[in-house]
Order: sequence, then structure tokens, then C-alpha cells
Amino acid sequence: MDPNCIFCKIVTGESPSSIVYKDENIVAFLDIHPATPVHILIVPHQHIPSINHITSDHETLLGKMYTVAKQLAVENGISESGYRLIINSGPDARQAVNHLHLHLLGGREMRFPMG
Ligand code: 5GP
Ligand code: ZN
Repeated sequence: MDPNCIFCKIVTGESPSSIVYKDENIVAFLDIHPATPVHILIVPHQHIPSINHITSDHETLLGKMYTVAKQLAVENGISESGYRLIINSGPDARQAVNHLHLHLLGGREMRFPMG
């Protein structure tokens, strides 16, 4: 838990968000500035600053993030029409929040690259 991290605060409930999934390791919520009709962030509870910080210890967690993303794609009706799963890392990728997160982007009129 990083007290200055917005996603840590969302995980604990200190900051509000529109949560669409939660378990003991992962929370998923709607992106506050959706780039596409469906834009959900899949976030581990653990404060991992970026994909640069993952180790083999995180392999199960990363796998679960993708399983949750697939489930949310089904629930949001975009599993057949199409979607993108994106992890931004570092300034050139415009990573803005330094707490690992997987973007689920789908629906008509997707924009890519983001931003
Ligand atoms: P990044 O560029 O780091 O991959 O993406 C960060 C994402 O987090 C952006 O799409 C941005 O809109 C979203 N975001 C930033 N702050 C908040 C927040 O307080 N609440 C929610 N729900 N999304 C946020
Ligand atoms: Zn954090």
C-alpha cells in the first residue's frame, strides 16, 4: 500500500470508483476517462509500480488478471465483437498511474493508440 497512490486508495475503498469485479487479489473498475465504450482497469491489490517490477512470484497474479479481463469482456458483450488488452509501461507508453493495471478496451469506435 502506497498512501500516495490513487489505485491503492481505490483498492482500500478510501477513494470512490465504479467497481465491476473484486476478489482477494484483484479489483476491476471503470476508467474515469473512458477511451472506448467499454474501458475497464484490472488492478492487483498489491502495489506493483509497473510491469518492470514483476517477478516469477507474480505469474499466477498476472494470469488471473487476464482471466478476469476475459470474463469482463464476456459480461460486457464484447468478447466476439472484439477488444484490446493493454499494459502501458513507462513514459513513452504514457503510463500515468504507477500501479500496475491492465486496460480492457472494447466497443465500437475504439481509438488506438490511446491518448
Ligand atoms: P495509464 O496511462 O497509466 O496506463 O492509464 C491510467 C488510466 O487510469 C487512465 O486511463 C485514466 O483515465 C485512469 N485513471 C486515473 N485516475 C483515475 C481515478 O482516480 N479513477 C479511475 N476510475 N480511473 C483513473
Ligand atoms: Zn498503488
